[in-house]
Amino acid sequence: MKVNQERLIAQFIELVQIDSETRNEGKIQPYLKERFTALGLTVEEDHTMGETGYGANNLLCTLAGDADMTPIFFSSHMDTVVPGVNIQPIIKDGAIYSDGTTILGADDKAGIAIMIELIQLLKEENIKHGTLEFVITVGEESGLVGAKAFDVNSLQSPFGFVLDTGGPVGAITIGSPTQYHLDVMINGVTAHAGVAPEKGVSAVQIASNAIHQMKLGRIDDMTTANIGFISGGTATNIVMDRLEIVAEARSLSPESGAAQVKHMEETFIRVAKEMGGSAEVIIKKMYDGYLFDAETPVVKMAAEGMKQAGIASHLQKSGGGSDANIFNGKGKPTTNLSVGYQEIHTVKEYMPIAEFVKAVEMAFGIVSVIAAS
Ligand SMILES: [Zn+2]
Repeated sequence: MKVNQERLIAQFIELVQIDSETRNEGKIQPYLKERFTALGLTVEEDHTMGETGYGANNLLCTLAGDADMTPIFFSSHMDTVVPGVNIQPIIKDGAIYSDGTTILGADDKAGIAIMIELIQLLKEENIKHGTLEFVITVGEESGLVGAKAFDVNSLQSPFGFVLDTGGPVGAITIGSPTQYHLDVMINGVTAHAGVAPEKGVSAVQIASNAIHQMKLGRIDDMTTANIGFISGGTATNIVMDRLEIVAEARSLSPESGAAQVKHMEETFIRVAKEMGGSAEVIIKKMYDGYLFDAETPVVKMAAEGMKQAGIASHLQKSGGGSDANIFNGKGKPTTNLSVGYQEIHTVKEYMPIAEFVKAVEMAFGIVSVIAAS
């Protein structure tokens, strides 16, 4: 099997030149529909636009295969971060860059180009394979919105692989934290700060005492917590009666994460009460985390697929979330694999061509291993 490097690059360049900033997926989605249909796949839209308010529906593209083999899915997202309009890709020094005024969009159009090249290779080399499903989501960059709306019951595959991690090909993500978002409102009592300060209860002093007593930063090897935003106050002569705080906690351990969130909530409420004020804390779980080990079937398949392709693999834990979190949370074990891109979410983003080719070989290796198992 030999990856057609020119074809891969040409496809990628075509993809990144179709603008698709998050919420504006309306131009690229029809292109993808047509492209996957032309490759002989069954393409379905999931009709979640009404629910998400985003620019397009998610796509599920199915390449029918041998019914005796386990079906698997690959996933990537069609949206990009900003600035992602009018991307001008440039090839230099063995990599693809933008012209420096926009992102490149390898995150995650590299994933889509890998899928398309994989399909073409399987077809032209007449490779036996199981059914392959390709889930291409919208709105990944703004809170995994498309994946959250996607119905995993529409998948035949018991597990899958997200093609959306940076760095050299070989990394298999075995863990990603559950993330919590905390909206905190501290209520004090207002008073004239010069005439009658003793009549007031300062919301910022409550917050300051509470935060002082709170465990923040790296809590343990699984858990982190951070105060991200504070806002309140009107004038220097008014005792501050309201203060808003936005915070987060993340953990690879559901127990430790829940305990940390409870600790933060309890501290705000207790300290506010002790000082004569009150606090309201709204906790939102943004997404579930996951934690696998080397023996988890989806991890084993990824590692064996890479071995087959001659790629050295290693396991890693991520501090962030991806669509894999959502698929896992909905009961489809999914790992996120590195595909080579670098410096994402910046105008310096680039895609090393050698890694790009390796990423296709990796996907091909996974398909071959599943077919042989
Ligand atoms: Zn991404």
